[in-house]
Amino acid sequence: SLSATALAKEKIYVGTNAEFPPFEYLENGKITGFDIELMNEIGKVLNADIKIQDMAFDGLLPALQLKKVDVVIAGMTATEERMKTVAFTQPYYTASQVIIVKEGDNSIKSFEDLKGKRVGVMLGFTGDTVVSEIEGVKIERFNAAYAGIMALKADKADAVVLDSEPAKNYVKQNPGLKLAEADAAKEEYAIAIRKNDKALLEKIEKALTEIKANGTYDKLIEKYFN
Ligand code: GLN
Repeated sequence: SLSATALAKEKIYVGTNAEFPPFEYLENGKITGFDIELMNEIGKVLNADIKIQDMAFDGLLPALQLKKVDVVIAGMTATEERMKTVAFTQPYYTASQVIIVKEGDNSIKSFEDLKGKRVGVMLGFTGDTVVSEIEGVKIERFNAAYAGIMALKADKADAVVLDSEPAKNYVKQNPGLKLAEADAAKEEYAIAIRKNDKALLEKIEKALTEIKANGTYDKLIEKYFN
């Protein structure tokens, strides 16, 4: 009926890949994490229902282009390459690429030291791009971070390059692994939206600014990173 339509909240369909703790992961079968809570806060500001859909990381931008989702939040780095096809909001998190090695390994202290080593990366992640630029690396590409960690533990790789926060999580959960001392390559996470969806971009941009200004953002940072 007309009144029901008038009362219905706007729905925002959001794509993520719940294999990236603490930004998005499954807890008792439910998707949660920093990004998910941030998106729900944006929904509150906009009085919209946030509908989260879990999918493979490399399927996220295609799903956005095909209008299967309207927004992507997935610890996704706003790279120049991706900006050719989608728009990004202001950054909401500064991350970096770090190197995970086995505890006893002191041969890898910088990205340069990866030369000649077998290095695990995740297909299509920014870590893949960073490592691909180093000459003489034997790259092993995996579909998920966990598969890379397993390969490292099984001695099928000498190192894994991954985003800092998930890397810390995996090291904590897998005794025998550590982060190499290397200087990290900085990058920024942002929310992706279709380029021609200017109205939505503007709304989310405003909501994000408000959430950063009113303390909501700081509370989430405190909850997930301190
Ligand atoms: N930040 C990395 C990227 O954008 C990894 C993101 C992810 O795996 N969720 O490629």
